[in-house]
Amino acid sequence: MQIKALPALEDNYIWLIEKDQDIIVVDPGESDDLLKYLNTNGLNLKAVLLTHFHEDHVGGLDSLLASQKQEVAVYGPVELEERVDYVVREGDHFTINQCEYKVIKTAGHSEEHVSYLMDSHLFCGDALFSAGCGRVFTNDYQAQFETIQKIKALPDTTKIYAGHEYTLTNLAFALTVEPNNQVLMKEQKHVKDIRSKGIPSLPSTVEREKQINLFLQVRSLTEFIQLRKARDQF
Ligand SMILES: [Zn+2]
Repeated sequence: MQIKALPALEDNYIWLIEKDQDIIVVDPGESDDLLKYLNTNGLNLKAVLLTHFHEDHVGGLDSLLASQKQEVAVYGPVELEERVDYVVREGDHFTINQCEYKVIKTAGHSEEHVSYLMDSHLFCGDALFSAGCGRVFTNDYQAQFETIQKIKALPDTTKIYAGHEYTLTNLAFALTVEPNNQVLMKEQKHVKDIRSKGIPSLPSTVEREKQINLFLQVRSLTEFIQLRKARDQF
C-alpha cells in the first residue's frame, strides 16, 4: 500500500491511498489533476472519505463521481448527509480493500468533523495540522480541545495526514509565542529546506507533533483558547 499527497487548490492536500490498481481518495477539494492522475495510472476508484463539509475538501466530489462508471462508496459525517452513501460517526468501523478504517469524531473546526484511522495512519482533515490546529469556526473550543486530546492519545508512531500545508506559517506563529524554542527553530529550518524542494511537510507523526505543536502542549482549555485566538490574529 502507498499513500500519496496530491496538492490541490492553494495549499490543500488530497490524500491518495493506493493498493495495486485500487485507490481511495480523501477530501477531493477539486478534481482536475485528480482525474488526470486516475486516468494516466489506470486506477480504479473504490471509495471517497470526507472529513467535513468545507468546499476546499468536497468541491471536486461531484465531477469525480460523474467521471466514474463503477460504484464508488462515499463516506462522510452527518453534515454531508445528502452527499454521501454512508454517514459515519464516532466509533464506526468499515473495511475497504481489506483495510479497516476507524472513525473518530474530531469536532471544533466544524460541528461534525471526523477523522479516519487506518492502522497507524490518521487522515484528520482540518482537525490538526503540523505545528497547528484548525480554526474553531464553531466557537466550540471545548470540542476542539477534546479533539486534540484524542489525537494526542494515539500511539506516538501514528502518522498525521492533515488537509493543508500550513506548517511554515504555524511554526512562524509558534516562534512568536516561544521565540527561544530551539526545537521549533530547528524544525523551521528543516521544513523550509524540504518545502523549497517542493516536498510536503506531511505526514507528520504524533511524536513529532508533541515536540513542535504548541496546541498539543497546552494544559488547560483556557490556555488553548488564548493560543488559538492569538493564532487567528497572526
Ligand atoms: Zn475546513
